[in-house]
Amino acid sequence: MTAQLIDGVALARLWRERVRERTVALQTRGIQPGLAVILVGDHPASQVYVRNKVKACQEVGFHSVLETHPAHLSEDALLARVRALNADPTIHGILVQLPLPPHIDAQRVIETIAPEKDVDGFHVANAGALMVGQPGFWPCTPYGCMKMLEHIGFDPCGKHAVVIGRSNIVGKPMALMLLHAHATVTICHSATVDLAQHTRQADVIVVAVGKRGVLTADMVKPGAVVIDVGMNRDEAGKLCGDVDFEGVRQVAGWITPVPGGVGPMTITMLLVNTLQAAERVAT
Ligand code: NAP
Repeated sequence: MTAQLIDGVALARLWRERVRERTVALQTRGIQPGLAVILVGDHPASQVYVRNKVKACQEVGFHSVLETHPAHLSEDALLARVRALNADPTIHGILVQLPLPPHIDAQRVIETIAPEKDVDGFHVANAGALMVGQPGFWPCTPYGCMKMLEHIGFDPCGKHAVVIGRSNIVGKPMALMLLHAHATVTICHSATVDLAQHTRQADVIVVAVGKRGVLTADMVKPGAVVIDVGMNRDEAGKLCGDVDFEGVRQVAGWITPVPGGVGPMTITMLLVNTLQAAERVAT
């Protein structure tokens, strides 16, 4: 068997077109969705991420603001900027790019963002809403993974899902979203004994670890759906995921490539969340 590819670029394009159309509709009512992105320091990967986010905003007709601050910015000064954006009616979504320099308490910064502008979905109010199944902003990466499953017609109801990784931004919310979709969910992490024993039973595997080769062909049930969230560099410096793509694609039913899989959907769901934040203001 050779797995079918889940094309994140094509799906992102489709979703961004929908966002653009809804943005035009909002604009006729005098509202332009606005996203503020704050970058502290000169982390090279973060610079690329924030540029891509701002560019994506421009492409769908959003108002976007990129604030860059030096790495020595104090925590108090950053909190003051977040509070100012909370009060700015032209801004519907606020994103503080992580990681922050070590002298800044990232959780305190996230908790200072107004929950209704927390389009990353990291505030405890939004994390709690996801936990209890109430409306709120869902973290963009797992939200994008759910949209990919929906797109290929995979209904998690009654299926066994294995999520590898338990971070607050990917693994845990991913598991909760799959649970809300009525999957039976197993969460694996660095202390999991015999990872393969779990993954071999899975109908869908989401890998969010950050290490190459975590999932190999012998660990996958034939026909399973494999979503690779990982972003790593190989020996040649080329972007790659956590999954042994060439091996696993011989066994899986569906698989996401890296690059061109989850990454484009993450930014797209940020646009969707920001649009929703603006639409809520409009109602
Ligand atoms: P993270 O906070 O470092 O979490 C990694 C998780 O993997 C932890 O829960 C860890 O377990 C677990 N883990 C580590 N080694 C393991 C092993 N050998 N077997 C099983 N589990 C293991 O990372 P993250 O923020 O969730 O991100 C994960 C990856 O996704 C990274 O490569 C990141 O760059 C990528 N990412 C991509 C996107 C995108 O848009 N494509 C977005 C976000 C993240 P413990 O909890 O026990 O330490």
